[in-house]
Amino acid sequence: MTARDVLARLDGLLPELEKLYLDLHRHPELSFAEHRTAAELARRLTGYEVHTGIGGTGVLGVLRNGPGPTVLLRADIDALPVEEKTGLDYASTVRATDADGNEVPVMHACGHDMHATWLSGAATLLAEARHAWQGTLLVVFQPGEEAGDGAEAMIHDGLFDVAGGPDVVLGQHVVPGGAGWVLTRPGVIMAATDALRVVLRGRGGHGARPECTVDPVVLAASVVLRLQTIVSREISATESAVVTVGSLHAGTAHNVIPEEAVLEVNVRAFDEAVRQKVLAAVERIVHGEAATAGAPEPPEITRVTGFGVTVNDEPANTRLTGSFREFFGPERVLEAPLITGSEDFGEFGGASGAPSVFWLVGGADAEAVLEAIAASRFEQDIPSNHSPRFAPVLHPTLRTGVETLVVGALEFLSVPGETLTA
Ligand code: ZN
Ligand code: ZN
Repeated sequence: MTARDVLARLDGLLPELEKLYLDLHRHPELSFAEHRTAAELARRLTGYEVHTGIGGTGVLGVLRNGPGPTVLLRADIDALPVEEKTGLDYASTVRATDADGNEVPVMHACGHDMHATWLSGAATLLAEARHAWQGTLLVVFQPGEEAGDGAEAMIHDGLFDVAGGPDVVLGQHVVPGGAGWVLTRPGVIMAATDALRVVLRGRGGHGARPECTVDPVVLAASVVLRLQTIVSREISATESAVVTVGSLHAGTAHNVIPEEAVLEVNVRAFDEAVRQKVLAAVERIVHGEAATAGAPEPPEITRVTGFGVTVNDEPANTRLTGSFREFFGPERVLEAPLITGSEDFGEFGGASGAPSVFWLVGGADAEAVLEAIAASRFEQDIPSNHSPRFAPVLHPTLRTGVETLVVGALEFLSVPGETLTA
């Protein structure tokens, strides 16, 4: 029995999956608050041993189906504090209270509702066709990807104690490529990221008497500019990194020099050595500028979140890409570009020691994408993940992501009666 046979029932399942997607899209939930989402997904895991509340709101479905490899399929399920502006009739109007107690709009602006629907569909089809494969299937609905620590939370809460570790970990993301396209990449596919909070301490006082103070606003200004020299002056032209100061807060009034300034810094890199070099440079510059300003106290640098590059295991990626080419035809399977976005997907492979592969599935109107590329207007015309206008087209996006998961899982599970390849 082939993937095509297992997927024969997908046509019949699609109306149900469309309903699930629209429901999740209308009811987005912030990181670690995915209670309704988790319950809806857990409820649909027919035939699985279901474990809920792993790492907060994570869900694990286990399907033990005889001796053979263990394949982990992962989808993230959280939404973002973004106000939806897609104009769709199923657009979210949800507002919620975030972790800091602020009321914020909520939207599935990263497409995790699509990921959850894909995995729910694949889990259903693989359970119904369990005579077609052998091994153990771990279906993981992960909370808190946008917060950066959802994968870690599930792993620390004993994810791998339930049914053991996987032999391979597979995951996917919807991107603004043409719907129906599948993009794979050997080796590094997504950047490492670090979020830093920097507190610069000065000495406050009257705005009219700066000579009595150490002004943290001026100090912060020179830190921000100097940080921009890291990539331009310290990183080789053949390497790459990003240093962004996304938030800068100081002061309350025009005539008061404040006591401190707070910066939030984001770092991205594709190489661990480059990443460490950038982080060391941030530390050196922040301390150096504070010393130069005569700050009464050293600055404080706290790492808020961070995770490494997403690296695809090359042999596993080759197998997977081959099976995608065979199923979809080579014209629909493209090489993914390097993505400066980041993912905590790599934690599952990192913590279990299993090879992992992460790939991308297009969700934008393919004709519009080709037109935009031809006009050099892709960035302007095709809304990307995290945009309030990010709106994957339902078809064939819904179908394609279920197909990739089923084809991918079957590539690594055993065929009954065949010699086991663990
Ligand atoms: Zn995202
Ligand atoms: Zn995402």
